[in-house]
Amino acid sequence: MAATALSPDVLAKYEPVIGLEVHVQLLTASKVFCGCANKFGSEPNTNVCPVCLGLPGSLPVLNAKAVEFAVMASLALNCEVRERSIFARKNYFYPDLPKGYQISQFDKPLAEHGWIEVPTADGSIKRIGITRLHMEEDAGKSLHDGFSDSATRTYLDLNRCGTPLAEIVSEPDIRTPDEAFEYLTRLKEILLYTAVSDCNMEEGSLRCDANVSVRPRGQEKFGTKAEVKNVNSFRFIRQALEYEIERQIEVIEEGGRVVQETRLWNAHEGRTYSMRSKEQAHDYRYFPEPDLPPLIVTPEFLESVRAKLPELPEARRKRMIAEYELNPKDAHTLTASREFADRFEAAAKTAKNPRRVANLLLSELGGRLKALGLELDQSPISMAGLVFAADLLDEGMISSKQLKGLFDIAFEKGEDFPAVYEREKPQQITDSSAIEAMIDQVIAANPKQVEQYRAGKKTMAGFFVGQVMKASKGQANPALLNELVTKKLDG
Ligand code: ADP
Ligand code: ZN
Ligand code: MG
Repeated sequence: MAATALSPDVLAKYEPVIGLEVHVQLLTASKVFCGCANKFGSEPNTNVCPVCLGLPGSLPVLNAKAVEFAVMASLALNCEVRERSIFARKNYFYPDLPKGYQISQFDKPLAEHGWIEVPTADGSIKRIGITRLHMEEDAGKSLHDGFSDSATRTYLDLNRCGTPLAEIVSEPDIRTPDEAFEYLTRLKEILLYTAVSDCNMEEGSLRCDANVSVRPRGQEKFGTKAEVKNVNSFRFIRQALEYEIERQIEVIEEGGRVVQETRLWNAHEGRTYSMRSKEQAHDYRYFPEPDLPPLIVTPEFLESVRAKLPELPEARRKRMIAEYELNPKDAHTLTASREFADRFEAAAKTAKNPRRVANLLLSELGGRLKALGLELDQSPISMAGLVFAADLLDEGMISSKQLKGLFDIAFEKGEDFPAVYEREKPQQITDSSAIEAMIDQVIAANPKQVEQYRAGKKTMAGFFVGQVMKASKGQANPALLNELVTKKLDG
């Protein structure tokens, strides 16, 4: 929680303005300007060469796959891709940057003018602009802890130097910490669907700097912003923004001025600390990288990448809602990852009734997995087993009550559904006269419901089916039961 406690009316006087800068590491096999492995977790300083160490005389060569991934991300984020973009040197001194400059893009970035749509508090959809997506290289890592002499020394691991990055800068269109959270969630989802990054925040393959300012409501001019760094989860970004918004309002309410600065998030204390006043962009003395030609993205190349774009999460959800008659929440669950959605759809295609596979996956299977904290690939019931179960239900070969029992056994014994079914072969009553006798009893015992049905409330049939199914201990053949119930009630 924030240290400040502003009243709701004070909060209501100010409007937050937020813009996010996201760095994502691209999932190429090698680095962006040399042949070194692009791999997390290697022995320190083993994935290095003269190019990424910045030794004199070495020359960078652009990795084509990194360009393809950056273009893919640009298209997925609705950006216009520039035909000719320029690499530039961003000069600064830091021990983890052996060249003394970072190769980035400056005034001619790869892509601009994109957007992501996010749901807002009032249930509407809002477009958050993406100013630009540009390519750059990552720096190394300073290791401040974990060594016996860490109190007096900092070590350097330069493996990360030259890892390809896409930097995605949003417009200052975000107005609440929740919108920031949604934006990041959508962005990550899109990047994961396009498979250009693994977006693993713990490993640093997705990093976010949050810029935030406040202004009196109704004022057009933006307030002075602070940039919050070092935040390693979306939840913390939301908290850091909440803290910062309250802090800045308090500064203003007390008659002070917000200063432009970089602040660090401290997750333990739940607050931000001033790190340094913000360097101005010209301090970096950007100039065009003399060792790299302009990056040319031909219309042909652009179209070839566009052709490889997968169906994106939002579009996929819309289609699946229509195709499987899902509600939005279930559609979200089924599309949580592209792999999950792919597995579901591949299986559903082979079923007699794909919708039933969706229902079973979400309820019977999903519920059990969730309760046990298991992932889909740890499920004793395979997708093929699930389809088998769905088909049996569909053909009325088992009742849903029997299915539940068989699923329980499958989970108890760690067996797939078909094996359990073959062994247990649940009893079914398929003798019409036996079922009819049970129906007669239920009809006799529920005259009111019979009346309602005959007065036109046809949905009451479900009540009778349910009662008879219960009386039969789930063993009545569902198809036959349905047919006989309507016949009896109508007859
Ligand atoms: P800088 O020059 O400090 O890097 P930029 O104009 O490049 O600032 O913007 C960096 C990020 O900060 C962008 O995401 C942008 O949307 C956001 N931003 C810019 N001005 C503000 C502001 N006044 N309040 C909040 N965010 C802002
Ligand atoms: Zn290298
Ligand atoms: Mg900037």
